[in-house]
Amino acid sequence: MGSLSLLPVAGARTEATTQEEQASRVSSRCLEPWTPGALDIHHISTGRGNVAFLVCPDRTTILIDAGALHAASDWGSDEKYRIQPLPDASLRPGQWIARYIARHMPAGRKPAIDYFILTHLHPDHMGGVDLLSHRKIMSRFGGYELTGVMDVHEEIPIRKILDRGYPDYSYPLPLVDPHQRNYRAFIASFLRNGGIVERFAAGSSNQIRLLHSGHGAHPDFIVQNLCANGRVWSGRGEDAEETFPSLDRLEKADYPTENKCSVAMRLAFGSFRYFSGGDMDHDTAYGRLPWGNIEARVARASGPVDVAMANHHGYVNACGPEWVAALRPRAFIISAWDSAHPTIPALDNMLSRQLYDQPRDVFSTALKPENIIATKRLHEIQSGSGHVIVRVAPGGDDFKIAITSNRDESDRIIAQFGPYHTTEKSLNS
Ligand SMILES: [Zn+2]
Repeated sequence: MGSLSLLPVAGARTEATTQEEQASRVSSRCLEPWTPGALDIHHISTGRGNVAFLVCPDRTTILIDAGALHAASDWGSDEKYRIQPLPDASLRPGQWIARYIARHMPAGRKPAIDYFILTHLHPDHMGGVDLLSHRKIMSRFGGYELTGVMDVHEEIPIRKILDRGYPDYSYPLPLVDPHQRNYRAFIASFLRNGGIVERFAAGSSNQIRLLHSGHGAHPDFIVQNLCANGRVWSGRGEDAEETFPSLDRLEKADYPTENKCSVAMRLAFGSFRYFSGGDMDHDTAYGRLPWGNIEARVARASGPVDVAMANHHGYVNACGPEWVAALRPRAFIISAWDSAHPTIPALDNMLSRQLYDQPRDVFSTALKPENIIATKRLHEIQSGSGHVIVRVAPGGDDFKIAITSNRDESDRIIAQFGPYHTTEKSLNS
């Protein structure tokens, strides 16, 4: 790997941006284990793709994405633009993720991931294959190469998978690039071995449920599926509406992209709200394809949240003004692996007091040193390196954010923010 060191920006807060919340620096403490009734959302910093591991109030575990870009060769992107693998390149990103999850599996249950939710079929979200054939490492379950979520499943069993493509993986065109073929071989093997796979159902509020509490034990915990393949929750019951034109009205070159087809969800726990929308964006081809602003549509369906994952890693075509103004989160979290994560316009929007006039904090799992030079306002964000853990107190009335070391497996706390108080929001709007 290159010799560039990642700037340890954690706590890059300046006097000018200090809000009422105090960041307490702790150098020797480690993250306390999850406790029953709390909700933990771990944004794991591998420098190689998105991954969020959730421990729900009743011990239900959810994994949203498990990306893994190889050190070389895949996906037409040059290594020099990428963030170095974290903690290092001695293991594959998916192996580091599995080890992280094993450390944070809640006590009192069998280690397993109840739900794996794939936002869309790109390597930085599901795991990419190594196109240099001499390094292929195959699963012991057979038929597919180990990477990303497949590496996780090799160590910790996944019970159910939800994605945008099952069962035919054919919208808007057959999903058959080498990475997608590998993932589909994994799905086929997973099904043969008794796993359950479903298409992510836009509009549903009971496809993802708590599984380890008695019926009705946590009525205030609801995962609302907002969107998949351009179908967006209408806000009425489980109803969803098509927002993409039918394909027969589009030129092939204008078909919805893989990113635009991302799934999005809003998790509610008491008055706490969390938004996650994969890589959806707002690119309308200069107004020619107005339906392309899918992220604005989805953000309006969501309404305000406390914590939002930045769409598309904060890239130039995502986190637009309408998305920011509709979600108005107290905290943004960017999952970064490239020198353009985040870009200047996306960060400007996230920081804009014109779009909403409340305080907000921004956290990135990692930053490329070159980006810190190019994107000057990165000095205004709270953290630029480390795992970002959102810990919501039982009942959902407040939450804290802890940054832990991504250099090793110590879970040492680098900085803490909050508590932030959640306020009652109407569920829709
Ligand atoms: Zn991505």
